[in-house]
Amino acid sequence: MDRTRYDAFVRTFFDCDPKEITQIFSELLDAMRAEESLPPGHYLSQNYDTAQANPEIHVLPGNLKDARDAVFPYFWGTDGWSSPLHLENVRGPANYASLIGAIACLLKNPNLCTDSYSQRSNELEVKAITALANLVFYHTVDPWGIFTVGGTISNLYAAKIGIEKVVPGAMRTGLRGERVAGIVSEAAHYCAHTIAGWLGLGTDNLHEIPTDRAMAMRLDLFAAKLDELYTQGVKVAFAIGTFGTTDAFGIDDLAGMRTILEDKAAKYGVPVPQLHADAAVGWGLGFLNEYDLDKNVLQLTPELKPVVAKVQQMCKGLRVADSVTIDFHKTGRGHYPSSAFIVNRKSDLKYLARSKDDTPYFPEADSRRDPALFTLETSRPGLGPYTVMASLNGIGLLGWQMLMARSLELADLLKRKLAKLDYCKVLNADTCGASVVWWVLPKGRDAKAIFDKLEAGQLSPEETTRYLTEIRRLYNKRDRTLDPARDARLSFTTEMGYRPGGVTVPAWKAVFYNPKTDEAIVDRLIESIEEVA
Ligand SMILES: *Cc1c(COP(=O)(O)O)cnc(C)c1O
Repeated sequence: MDRTRYDAFVRTFFDCDPKEITQIFSELLDAMRAEESLPPGHYLSQNYDTAQANPEIHVLPGNLKDARDAVFPYFWGTDGWSSPLHLENVRGPANYASLIGAIACLLKNPNLCTDSYSQRSNELEVKAITALANLVFYHTVDPWGIFTVGGTISNLYAAKIGIEKVVPGAMRTGLRGERVAGIVSEAAHYCAHTIAGWLGLGTDNLHEIPTDRAMAMRLDLFAAKLDELYTQGVKVAFAIGTFGTTDAFGIDDLAGMRTILEDKAAKYGVPVPQLHADAAVGWGLGFLNEYDLDKNVLQLTPELKPVVAKVQQMCKGLRVADSVTIDFHKTGRGHYPSSAFIVNRKSDLKYLARSKDDTPYFPEADSRRDPALFTLETSRPGLGPYTVMASLNGIGLLGWQMLMARSLELADLLKRKLAKLDYCKVLNADTCGASVVWWVLPKGRDAKAIFDKLEAGQLSPEETTRYLTEIRRLYNKRDRTLDPARDARLSFTTEMGYRPGGVTVPAWKAVFYNPKTDEAIVDRLIESIEEVA
């Protein structure tokens, strides 16, 4: 080996050159800021054809600028979601406290699989998990958890614990031909299907319970479903209550679900299924738990105070869950991936535990500190703990309360403005969250009356199709004609979570996750609706 050549190459890629790195970093920052001065959207269109046909690798070793150039066109052309006009979905711009945490993490690149590969970063994970656990479970005694790559995987952990509770030893023996089921609401995230499929239950054994008008699971139907399944000898492994549905922010009554689960399990003499709270979106409401509405230091308006009071009431439900999913990369405006799976009682992790014999790479492993003994993943990134602790403590409780309350304030404002238009109908008036789903029909139609008729089963299939088509057509019309520099970007959901009479209901959707969105943007949104209707 030509050592001179080799040593020069190693210096370029493995010596830290702060000057070179900070220069490239500041170039990327400048480019990002230039891009952010443009209206949101796609700045360079995609070129998928060549991405596949021509994935060339340079021949000769280059330098860090080559690394920059290799990714730059894709960096420019990826929207960082910083524009306040982005209202499409449960996604905000990442906060900069999270960036500081992320950079610190990337510089050390810990692997959270075991203590010896991550040292104090594992301690940080314990701290971040406990901080989040206290927020949702409130004064909990013995929580434990880990960061995963997303809400889907966090929910999968809960389902797996449930399977082990009702089919003990399934990790080793499989489901042994048992019929094993899971239960969610019709408004739950579709990932429940992914989980049922991947865990071997089969999606046919995932049961979706209809919701009420507030997009919350109908408890009478939940109880009836449990009777039906237990009578047929089916083992019910888990029930997932959604705390904040992705489209409409419906919240399932977890306390009610808990009572029913325990009653039915006692009646049929079976183990109580895992009660999991999918709070991927809704967990952040927990920041408002201790907001003192009498002192009202944030000067929340009289309209908003009852909304916050309702939020405080709803958050109590989380305390009875066995486990919870928290997507910090959603409501925490943190970097991906930072989803947390947390059990209320650490002892529940025994259902996932493997013995040291099953993890031969880690002979030194100790289950107290080495998550690899129970995690699905082996290598795990440290971004979750770093971005979460940096964000939690950088922003502070009052900062989080401001962020959450502002989302509620703008959602509430839009709901009230839409309620004044005859041809519009707010579909999630009874939920309290950051999202608004609604109908826009042509001027002259009475949207509220049409919705009432749909609920009462008084619309013919033809009428239903006609109205639902009009809602889509007007959405498309606005989408085609919007001014990207002025008009908020919305999204359209084909199924907002409540199916009156079994009809899947589409809706316009706006989610207030961008801290810079303001009243003027809401006013302009209303104006644009008046223009297209
Ligand atoms: C987004 C979401 C998920 C999936 O989370 P990912 O982090 O995207 O995997 C699960 N449940 C709910 C309620 C969600 O909103």
